Amino acid sequence: MPLDHPSPTIDTSPKVADEVKYTTCYMCACRCGIKVHLRDGRIRYIEGNRNHPVNKGVLCAKGAAGIMQQYSPAKLTAPLLRVGERGKGEFKEISWDEALDIATKWLGDIRKTDPRKLAFFTGRDQSQALTGWWASQFGTPNYAAHGGFCSVNMAAAGMYTLGGSFWEFGEADWERSKYFLMFGVAEDHASNPIKIGLSKLRARGAKFVSVNPIRTGYSAVADEWIGITPGTDGLFVAALIHELLSADKIDFDYLTRYTNAAWLVIQAPGAADDGLIARDSDGTPLTAPKLAGAYKLDDGRSAVPVFQLLAQRFLDPIYAPEAVADKTGVPAATIRRIAAELAHAAFDQAIEIDQPWTDWRGQRHAKTIGRPVAMHAMRGISAHANGFHTCRLIHVLQLLLGSVDVPGGFRHRPPYPKSAPPENKPAGKPHQVAPGKGLGAPLGYPMGPQDLIIDAAGRPARIDRAFSWEAPFAAHGMMHMVIANAHAANPYPIDTLFFYMANMSWNSAMNTSGTMQMLADKNARGDYRIPHIIYSDAYFSEMVAYADLVLPDTTYLERFDCISLLDRPISDADGAADAIRQPIIAPDRDVRPFQDVLIDLGARLKLPGLAESDGSPRFSGYADYVTRHQRAPGIGLLGGWRGADQVQSYIENQCFWREELPESARFYKFANRDYLDYAAQRRWIGAPEPIVMQIYAEPLQRFRLAAQGHGRPQPPDAIRARVERYFDPLPFWHEPFEEAVSGVAEFPLHAVTQRPMAMYHAWHSQNAWLRQIHGANRLYVARVTAERMSLADDDWVWITSRQGRVKAQIRLMDGVNPHTVWTWNAIGKRAGAWNLTPDAPEANEGFLLNHLIAELLPPRGDGYRYANSDPVTGQAAWYDLRVRIEKADDAGTQPRFEPLHPPQGLPPRPDILRYGAKR
Ligand code: SF4
Repeated sequence: MPLDHPSPTIDTSPKVADEVKYTTCYMCACRCGIKVHLRDGRIRYIEGNRNHPVNKGVLCAKGAAGIMQQYSPAKLTAPLLRVGERGKGEFKEISWDEALDIATKWLGDIRKTDPRKLAFFTGRDQSQALTGWWASQFGTPNYAAHGGFCSVNMAAAGMYTLGGSFWEFGEADWERSKYFLMFGVAEDHASNPIKIGLSKLRARGAKFVSVNPIRTGYSAVADEWIGITPGTDGLFVAALIHELLSADKIDFDYLTRYTNAAWLVIQAPGAADDGLIARDSDGTPLTAPKLAGAYKLDDGRSAVPVFQLLAQRFLDPIYAPEAVADKTGVPAATIRRIAAELAHAAFDQAIEIDQPWTDWRGQRHAKTIGRPVAMHAMRGISAHANGFHTCRLIHVLQLLLGSVDVPGGFRHRPPYPKSAPPENKPAGKPHQVAPGKGLGAPLGYPMGPQDLIIDAAGRPARIDRAFSWEAPFAAHGMMHMVIANAHAANPYPIDTLFFYMANMSWNSAMNTSGTMQMLADKNARGDYRIPHIIYSDAYFSEMVAYADLVLPDTTYLERFDCISLLDRPISDADGAADAIRQPIIAPDRDVRPFQDVLIDLGARLKLPGLAESDGSPRFSGYADYVTRHQRAPGIGLLGGWRGADQVQSYIENQCFWREELPESARFYKFANRDYLDYAAQRRWIGAPEPIVMQIYAEPLQRFRLAAQGHGRPQPPDAIRARVERYFDPLPFWHEPFEEAVSGVAEFPLHAVTQRPMAMYHAWHSQNAWLRQIHGANRLYVARVTAERMSLADDDWVWITSRQGRVKAQIRLMDGVNPHTVWTWNAIGKRAGAWNLTPDAPEANEGFLLNHLIAELLPPRGDGYRYANSDPVTGQAAWYDLRVRIEKADDAGTQPRFEPLHPPQGLPPRPDILRYGAKR
């Protein structure tokens, strides 16, 4: 039929911007490069930067929605001072001078008298190279970021075993791997790289197996999904090890050269050296000529190689596939098949790269041999009370297959690997803390009981109890315990809680309802039990209402940031890289970048590194600090273009720097002479010495010996048995504590959360685009389980744990372990928070599982309550939660709390937030 009108001309690429600026995304922790398109000074469009090493142009839904983060009506607008009761959200606006005077007074008084009385903890910020240093200048040991409730098990187990870890410090060899085994990951800190990597794997026909109770996210595109029962991954991995040992499918050469498998372990039950590594007079470990057998040392002592102990442990029938099948929910035949597939990929499909390299002994290898099996794991493994040992088990599995930092395997990203563990020890022992004085770095890696942060009586010396006998390897602190311990004034009272970007009265707390009460609780005199709370955030999160003083931050598009090699850089396995953020637009509110505020505050407090001897500020702001501050001679926060124009050089290079490793230095980094020389020159490691990977972790044995009565210090009697049991130098599987304390009959279901791909925890609660994807959350229940309980889709249920109960609506699904229920993390909101209307779906249909998770275990015999945490690292055991569900009579989320009123200055709550609308 003829057209009456000519075809319209459509401009498919309209000019959207009159200016483009480069920076780094901060809509999650992944740190992709972005191009921000501006018109008339307003953000119109965000695009992935194709040249950026992290995302190579890929942008996810969150990244694109950064526009609505900028135009959010929940942005704080000015410093606030509380005028009503804590928790009510009643504030008055004050000037920055007044706000900083108040903070300086509170913190100055503390520093002059007892620096421990400041507890400074940060959330998912990327400024730990600054914040940790600031805490040490202040002199408080009570510092950490959020790793204790995120994935410190993953980090600590990796560091004590490999000198590196999964997290964002390593990656699969996406180009070469033939078999990829992923544990407990729905979405991750390396989000876009993993998605890009998975597409490469799939295109090459490599097999991807995902072990996860829930088939969403990455698991949904896996070739095989193993719907394991939560908390049993370690048992599954132990059974894989059992099978590989039984079939003799082990890379003995790799073990002998690069791990401590051949080191001799003293066998002297009851003696002070039992289980320690036999050493010569120089302290060099003695090695066995073979990996098996028993040996007599020159001094007559008995010893066996590490591998002998490993084989004895895992050939035990308790780790046979049939023995673990019921518990894990994985059939024995599947375990056997996966073990055989791993062995086939590693040994029958081994690869060779035509790349010579030289090892630390000077031996030249004509080719680089690869075992193309890669693994990755994260919070699903980590957030259990057995997570440290489970993660160690995964690393041991990798080592047995010879697949760490080889072609096709898991690869370290510079500046990793470091020594296993790194040499830095935590500072903060009582004699190291003094009024008016700085301190060493508060976080580190204890090598034995002498490195604990405890007092002479063995009591914790940090407010969170990190690095005490209760959590000796708490390498990231225990942020989840700070409020409860501060409220109880145990181990001592503090004066000021200073939090940055951590929603501690809502989704970042266990026992959320209790935490809100603790923050607002008063003593008999009518004073708050936690005297002062300072909080910095860019948005009106639930935590704002509990602050006495609010220091409003900018958005990530309004400030300078530094993604540092001293913290969590953006390196990949073939090159070192770091990045900055630059201000794309100027704030239109009375807000300041937190990093600038911290530097200003430090100068006002006359902290040694931040004030000149005449008392004047040493730095004009964070960018100046990054440019001029040196952590060691020639070492600053950024690796590239060191010098006066460093920041400008980054801006001209699209806000990142990357330096390729020499071709000969890219694999076997732990033993590669070219790499070790390169790393030592850049001060990533102390000396170009080989890094021996630790199947047998001797530091754990030192704690065990102390528990058995050897050396000083020793644990208090009440905790001896716990230290002795869990400080096993070889990894093992044990039941999470919650199994025993909750009672499986009363609480038959596991309950876990996952972070969705379209939201990063609570950050996007007010993001008008992302709310349309996740405006409310359901409790997902296996169809078979629901049918057995006569529950139907859309029913409302009470979910009950030993801690309490919440009400939620259910959705049935097939792709979930039948003993597990789950929901998306941090979608449920307190009414009114984030400047959402009180009738927003987040507050009425969304719910928070955190109310059900106890931060403490039930009392032991003497009444003391341990943290609900891993006994080695203190990692919060979020995923050990056990619940029951019962049909509810009525609809509507429970519990509800009094709606929060937005503080002064926030704009009215719009019914519709329009993209691009002129305001
Ligand atoms: S993965 Fe994270 S950093 Fe990358 S674009 Fe998405 S939100 Fe931004």
